[in-house]
Amino acid sequence: MATNSGIEEYAALLAAMDKTEPVCMGDDLFIRDREDVTPEEQEDMRQTCAQCPLYDLCRAYGEAAHPTGGYWAGRYYGSATRRRTGD
Ligand code: SF4
Repeated sequence: MATNSGIEEYAALLAAMDKTEPVCMGDDLFIRDREDVTPEEQEDMRQTCAQCPLYDLCRAYGEAAHPTGGYWAGRYYGSATRRRTGD
């Protein structure tokens, strides 16, 4: 059986977001580049996610798709090897 790479999980998350606003909505930390988020800010994000009614669906998507960008249900999935050059 072929993997769906998170397509079904993402659809379920989007459907739920139509009815329930994610706790991270409007929080700039969640769209900031990973390299620009401090460990203390990541802890704040984990606590935000712990309060989110969409946590299970968001986690299911993250586990299925391992997205390289974004913060999903308390964690990053992509590598943190990219560094800014300051140009
Ligand atoms: S669980 Fe997902 S949707 Fe909810 S606050 Fe965390 S990142 Fe946002």
